[in-house]
Parts: sequence; structure tokens; C-alpha cells
Amino acid sequence: MEPKAASAAVKRLAEIRERTARWWHEAGLEVPLFGHRGAGDFHENSEETMKAVGKRQGSAITMWVWHGTSDDSLKEIEGEGFDVSMSHERNFFGQGIYFAVNSSKADLYAGPEERRHRKCSARMSQLLCLVFLGQREKCEEPEKGKSGPEEGNDSVEGLTLVEGGVLDHTEFVLYDRRLAIPVLRVSYKHADRCVCARCSFDSK
Ligand SMILES: [Zn+2]
Ligand SMILES: [Zn+2]
Repeated sequence: MEPKAASAAVKRLAEIRERTARWWHEAGLEVPLFGHRGAGDFHENSEETMKAVGKRQGSAITMWVWHGTSDDSLKEIEGEGFDVSMSHERNFFGQGIYFAVNSSKADLYAGPEERRHRKCSARMSQLLCLVFLGQREKCEEPEKGKSGPEEGNDSVEGLTLVEGGVLDHTEFVLYDRRLAIPVLRVSYKHADRCVCARCSFDSK
């Protein structure tokens, strides 16, 4: 990276950290930010997390996760942050903001809306986001119409098949926009001969 670009990135990250700290403070959260850590460092009840969250007794975690959506929505999010009202109550866990641990999962929602889950050769983007998941309500079944986690929880975790749920890959849902910070936009294209699930599912 060019020194100039690097210093711009550092400045941007500092701004994001500041905004994150402000939003989380407004939401009544007093947890440290882990802006320099990857998602893999935040396994539940890791020693680091336990130490950091103190009063929340190891239940609070922050994570780096992916959000895939259309370019139009991306622009809105980059400008205004997430907006729960842009989501729909018909969604799997109701009207919330959805995040994936796997970028391959977020990928299914990236690109033009009419090509969701389908092969798409256009350039598309995902957002790498810093989210506060806190205490997670772990859901085995879809709960359409949901507008927030059950009392005492901060977020919803959709469980995978091996965990007794119905999803192939973990997803997290937040219902408070202040707990999700878009940090970086990653743009990419599926290669012509890509053999990923999305490209193989529908080769039209
Ligand atoms: Zn549930
Ligand atoms: Zn592909």
C-alpha cells in the first residue's frame, strides 16, 4: 500500500473506532473495541474476551463479519450506516440486519438484487463490519416476523445443521443499527470459470 493510502486508511479506521465507541456508549455498552483483531480471535469465552468484557460475564463478544447486499443498498449503508427498516419481517429471523461469518454466504446477497443466489458475472461488493453481538439468542428454527431478540439478549445467532439448527453456515442478526459498523467495502468478481456454489447452482 502507498504510504499516503495507508495513512488515509489509518485515519478512516480511527474515525470508525470513534464513531463505534460513541454509538456503543449511546446503546449503554461499555466494552472495549477490538478494531485490530480478526473474527477468529473472538471465539466465545476466550480468555481475552472474558477479561475484556468483565461485567458481562463472558457473554459479550464483538466480531468481524460480512454483509452482502446490492450496490444501491451499499451506498446507503456507507452514507448513513445500517437501517433496520430496510430489512423485511419476512426474513428468516425477522426485520433485522444480517451478517455472515463466511464471506461465501454474504456473497449470495451481493450484486444486483435480481441475481441474488444466482450466477452473476458483474462486479459486486460486500462490507466487512464490526458488530457487537453481546448475549446471543440461539435460534434453531426460522422465526419470521421477529423484531428483536428475546428479553436478555442482544442479538440472534442462527444455528447451523451440526448445531441443531437449519442453516448451512452461521448467521448473526442485529436489530439495533448502532451495534453494527460498516468498516471496509470489498469489491470482487466471480471468475469466468468459477466453480463456487453460487456459480454452479445456476449457470445461466
Ligand atoms: Zn429464537
Ligand atoms: Zn463463483
